Amino acid sequence: MPEERERVPSFPGSGKTVVLPDLGAPTADTHAHLDMLADPAGALVRAARARITLVCSIVDLTEEPEVTLDGLPGWMRTATAALAAEPGGPLAAPDVRLILGVHPHNASRFDADTERALRALARRLPTGLVVGLGELGLDFHYDHSPRDAQRDSFRRQLALANDLGLPVTVHLRAAHDEGLEVLRDVGVPDAGCIIHCFTEGPETATRFLALSPSVMISFAGPVTFAKAQQVRDSLAVIPLERILAETDSPFLAPAPYRGEPNEPAFVTLNVARIAETLGQPAELVAAACMDNARRVFGLDGRRPVGGAS
Ligand SMILES: [Zn+2]
Repeated sequence: MPEERERVPSFPGSGKTVVLPDLGAPTADTHAHLDMLADPAGALVRAARARITLVCSIVDLTEEPEVTLDGLPGWMRTATAALAAEPGGPLAAPDVRLILGVHPHNASRFDADTERALRALARRLPTGLVVGLGELGLDFHYDHSPRDAQRDSFRRQLALANDLGLPVTVHLRAAHDEGLEVLRDVGVPDAGCIIHCFTEGPETATRFLALSPSVMISFAGPVTFAKAQQVRDSLAVIPLERILAETDSPFLAPAPYRGEPNEPAFVTLNVARIAETLGQPAELVAAACMDNARRVFGLDGRRPVGGAS
């Protein structure tokens, strides 16, 4: 469609003209690493053009959190100025919210100081800016941190989220059975528990959903990958109100841009593929992913933003 080609020019680094689906409704990217993108402000501009009106960005306390904490106001100013001058009329920059925590890869660096800093930051930052804790969990595929350190970091952050009344974004790789046990043992936050970048099949999805009504399943690029049919199959067992979409950018760009740098605008491709798999209109699924994100992150006014305490 030539009109779309004009609207969405080449993305930096892609070397291709990127064509994104028009979903017909705004939607959300619930998991991005803006601090790892080459040009966060530019990515926010392109996200706004793709009608991504909410972006949740992960801030790892052991990996230069100041890149986001100090950089975000500038990214927003730059994006807002660029979007005010849009040829088709001014657009608003996406609402950016933060998810703070320590990735399982960095679990060996999670200690009492980190835990204190996490608690203090979640409370000190402007009300509503921090919408959850994460990403936390277990990664037994890479084992970048010893497994006992991962278990400890996972449990302590999960307990903290329960304490603060915040939802969690959970990263599990080659560790779904144990992850399920830990969630059951420590307790799934009532505020929400997002199983991020879901790569498993219907059986695993069902087991996580059964843990608590607050569990949600989030889909990244793998939902578009040709060989990941089990991921699409899992959609059949997940109620629409428990589905989220994310990019995990800059990682995991969806088909047909697999291997390119990913960014929030690309979540449209994941949402389109979810809708196609469900046999539902893209507009309906985009709106559901948006509503679900607003609900789990406390942005719909139904629970005090930033946690209860
Ligand atoms: Zn991530």
